[in-house]
Amino acid sequence: MDDMTKPPMIPRTDPIWQSKSWQQELADLIRDPQELLQLLGLEAHQLPELGNAKGVFPLKVPRPYAARINRADPTDPLLAQILCTAAENDCHPGFSDDPLAEQSANPVPGLIHKYRGRVLLIVTSNCAIHCRYCFRRHFPYRQNNPRFSHWQKAIDYIHSDNTIEEIILSGGDPMMASDRQLEKLVAKLVLIPHLKRLRIHTRLPVVIPQRITQQCLNWLTDHRLQTIMVIHCNHPQEIDQSVHCMLNKLAQTNLTLLNQTVLLKGVNNNVHTLAALSEDLFQCGVLPYYLHQLDPVNGAARFHVPNTESIALYQDLLAALPGYLVPRFVKEEASATSKTPISIM
Ligand SMILES: *Cc1c(COP(=O)(O)O)cnc(C)c1O
Ligand code: SF4
Repeated sequence: MDDMTKPPMIPRTDPIWQSKSWQQELADLIRDPQELLQLLGLEAHQLPELGNAKGVFPLKVPRPYAARINRADPTDPLLAQILCTAAENDCHPGFSDDPLAEQSANPVPGLIHKYRGRVLLIVTSNCAIHCRYCFRRHFPYRQNNPRFSHWQKAIDYIHSDNTIEEIILSGGDPMMASDRQLEKLVAKLVLIPHLKRLRIHTRLPVVIPQRITQQCLNWLTDHRLQTIMVIHCNHPQEIDQSVHCMLNKLAQTNLTLLNQTVLLKGVNNNVHTLAALSEDLFQCGVLPYYLHQLDPVNGAARFHVPNTESIALYQDLLAALPGYLVPRFVKEEASATSKTPISIM
């Protein structure tokens, strides 16, 4: 029984505090496809032809995320999400630059008011990672100049419409803004009497978990608004020990923690992956929210899962999990008044 008295081999310290800060990670993103291939032990001929890494939506990968990609596996589901291929420039029928017609629901720059009771504020156009399926990859962020100075117009708009009960911070990734900026924004939002809820849609806790600093936890939790954080995780392999730790930490606050996933061919279009994702996230204190059908945005056609397949897959998911672990399967339609549930009948 000697083993019982030995100290554990791995010291029980929080791995987050041993790593670089999130700002250091942002300054050191992988932007060169050759470097990525080298890190992963892959040769160019094992992959589809690579695209122009310096275009409008270049390769961008945080190192903590790259560390979760399996070496020497050209079909890795995390790699598939970030690899910029030459075929992205091809046109496909039904795919466009603005499939959601967001550019017409834009009352003031950076604000999208499409659904009753909630508005979406594009806090910043930046992201830590460039996901190749992203539906905002062609959004004219420059016209929608989402700099801090423009937030005031959005705040005035919310003040003037007392049907708005919820603000959704989005982007890009809103957590790319500094804690000081976000703290100031929240300080203004709490002064709007009819606003009840603050929602943050972010992929940063997954791709660079160090983003959740103590200062961040403070502005997130220390105010009168009910707060919801919707993270964005597509595959159980995205959840390593540091992500697990950070999500648990968030889950222990008074926030409601939800996840949305995009159904992606070659990444998560099978029932085992989606079921494991829900189960693993639940262990971290996260409940599933949406499973999105891919928006038909130019450049993302390789991720398309045909309707017959996706509906069969969703039926299998319903049979595999308890109801509270099944995300709502939805698509977004340009003129609809909500996300549209995809019927399995
Ligand atoms: C998805 C979305 C929302 C949020 O919709 P919920 O169903 O409440 O999650 C709000 N505004 C816009 C523009 C959206 O695209
Ligand atoms: S907005 Fe979200 S999905 Fe799109 S590139 Fe940024 S992190 Fe990825």
